[in-house]
Amino acid sequence: MTDRTCPNCGAALPELLAHARMVNCEFCGSSVVLEDAATRLAGQAGVMADAPELIEVGVPVRLGEAGSFNATGHVRYDYGRGYWDEYHGSLEDGTLLWVSVDEGDVALQRPVPKSNWPRMQGPPRIGRQVSSNGIDYTCSEVDNATAVAFRGQLPEEIVLGEIHMYANFSGPRGAILSAEFWGDGEAAWFTGVWIDPYEVERLA
Ligand SMILES: [Zn+2]
Repeated sequence: MTDRTCPNCGAALPELLAHARMVNCEFCGSSVVLEDAATRLAGQAGVMADAPELIEVGVPVRLGEAGSFNATGHVRYDYGRGYWDEYHGSLEDGTLLWVSVDEGDVALQRPVPKSNWPRMQGPPRIGRQVSSNGIDYTCSEVDNATAVAFRGQLPEEIVLGEIHMYANFSGPRGAILSAEFWGDGEAAWFTGVWIDPYEVERLA
């Protein structure tokens, strides 16, 4: 339970998930960062222009063989030519993961433990090969993206308007690896699999 309130408008925040680090005030649209005993205002939560969405916060969906997924957070990234959406949530067994939806392509992504992060000399570029957990991947895309909006609850703080570099890599049999690089030297790697969009089905 939470008795935390929005530092902007004073409304009660929704019941917080154990992993939540950032929450969207449903009343005034503020982004609120959760700290140990305090909350910090992080600006507005951005505009999520309406678009038909395969996945929606609060609506359980079946993701092919992965089973049912319940999205509890949603971030939209703009990469110049368009945008893609990332949903954070849990599978039926409680596993937390991200699902990305880019022009109808759906991928399920889990963080790669730091011990399995690829070793890379210099910045990523297309064609560069990396290896993680014994699997070889080739870089297929490098670009910059900006988080433009978020809804729900997230396990990390997302700074809207902040630009980061991302790189996508493809491996054997549709395996995917992706990375995010931030200006302060932070990085995060994810491994994933494609989900057939025809196997994404609303359960409610
Ligand atoms: Zn508020």
